[in-house]
Amino acid sequence: MNITLLGTGTSQGVPVIGCKCPVCTSTDPRDQRLRTSALLSDGITNVLIDSGPDFRQQMLRAGVEKLDAIVITHEHNDHVIGIDDVRPFNFSTGKPIKVYALPRVAQDLQYRFQYIFGEPIPGLPRIELIEIDENSVLQIGRITLEAVGIMHGELPILGYKCENLVYITDMKRILPQELAKLRDIRYLVVNALQIADHPTHMSLEEALDFVTQINPEKTWLTHCSHRLGRTTDIAPTLPSGVLLGYDGLQITF
Ligand SMILES: [Zn+2]
Ligand SMILES: [Zn+2]
Ligand SMILES: [Zn+2]
Repeated sequence: MNITLLGTGTSQGVPVIGCKCPVCTSTDPRDQRLRTSALLSDGITNVLIDSGPDFRQQMLRAGVEKLDAIVITHEHNDHVIGIDDVRPFNFSTGKPIKVYALPRVAQDLQYRFQYIFGEPIPGLPRIELIEIDENSVLQIGRITLEAVGIMHGELPILGYKCENLVYITDMKRILPQELAKLRDIRYLVVNALQIADHPTHMSLEEALDFVTQINPEKTWLTHCSHRLGRTTDIAPTLPSGVLLGYDGLQITF
């Protein structure tokens, strides 16, 4: 199995339009972050986690020719607005793309993409919504995914576990009853927004506390803001086993 971090930036992406800060003007490619998304693959089946505003560019950049399903963490724009661009995958297979989401999120998608769900008109994107919850176990081809219930401020959202890796974004805290799913995992991808505290996202310090609690072998941080700092400045300050994620990073597990 492998997971490719297609985007590791927060909702505005990095660089931020018009910003002249040291991160946004950095020439280090690791400081250029598309909106957070990742691709799980066993070489046959490809499952995308979130389809944000950079979906099209991410599919092109990663050379994805086939997409079997999209699993959504939550309904915020930076995680869903790219869904219209599934069309090339619909056209190549003649089938809708399966999209797995919480019932609340599925409802939101039906509202945002109302035109998709009316009369079938050629050229429109086609998705098949499948409602799941934090207890769901999904089987997509030979890929098994287990949902993990987490809190994004006061909003319950989902992370995903695949074999010995857990992928979590936009978390502020985990539901205590879900901690058992993270016991004995080897790899963790988790969000760290910025240095300062934030009401709905973990700061770097909170993310590192969470890593200490879970104690995986290796962790990659994602959903980073320009306020986190330059990779060259932050990476050396991280504890051993914790790395800053960057766009294009592929992790084999
Ligand atoms: Zn987000
Ligand atoms: Zn900036
Ligand atoms: Zn969010």
